[in-house]
Amino acid sequence: MVASEKQVKDINKKHKIKSQKLKQKVDASIAKATEERGLVLLITGNGKGKSTAGFGVVTRCVGHGYKAAVAQFIKGDWECGERHLLASHGVPFSVMATGFTWDTQDREGDIKAATEVWTEAKKYLADARYHVVLLDELTYMLGYKYLDKEDVIHAIINRPAEQTVVITGRGAGKDLKQIADTISEIKDEKHAYRAGIKARKGVDW
Ligand code: ATP
Ligand code: MG
Repeated sequence: MVASEKQVKDINKKHKIKSQKLKQKVDASIAKATEERGLVLLITGNGKGKSTAGFGVVTRCVGHGYKAAVAQFIKGDWECGERHLLASHGVPFSVMATGFTWDTQDREGDIKAATEVWTEAKKYLADARYHVVLLDELTYMLGYKYLDKEDVIHAIINRPAEQTVVITGRGAGKDLKQIADTISEIKDEKHAYRAGIKARKGVDW
């Protein structure tokens, strides 16, 4: 049944009232947020999209003309597309060169590689020129105890006040959760991999 002109008018009127009420609520909550400082964003969970989201923040930052830096733990020998793009825009990358740990099965080697990347990451975290620092896949380094947790937490909480840190990886522990301002848990509801579809260049890396 086609709505009459009057019915359409009524629907539009109701929609307008509802929208106005919602806007008032949103404006009031925006007005409550008065503090301005850099954040700790934690993107965790088993679903796909954590690193993509982290790189999204870096891209957003660079797009506004700010500086950003990236430290990648674990995924060293996957040449991710973001690296090619962002490095050509002056974003320094520090990347673990060993690849996935289940490929290497070399704990000592992994610790050494992780420590090298962390040494660079600490420099980014001490440098106020960086508006955003992405610590991609950091959670595993703490989970495996490859890096000293106290040292990592200390460097993050003592970063320059305007700097935002984005941390990605599954299974974030309580210490990272405690220092995070925003935590997003990405849920794994369905993944193409389980249907036998291969990871795709330009989509998955
Ligand atoms: P992306 O890099 O695509 O944002 P991610 O950072 O959330 O993914 P990781 O745990 O870092 O996910 O996994 C890296 C790779 O594994 C990516 O190629 C991703 O597509 C794939 N992947 C992510 N989640 C799953 C899953 N639940 N099952 C299978 N493969 C996954
Ligand atoms: Mg990832």
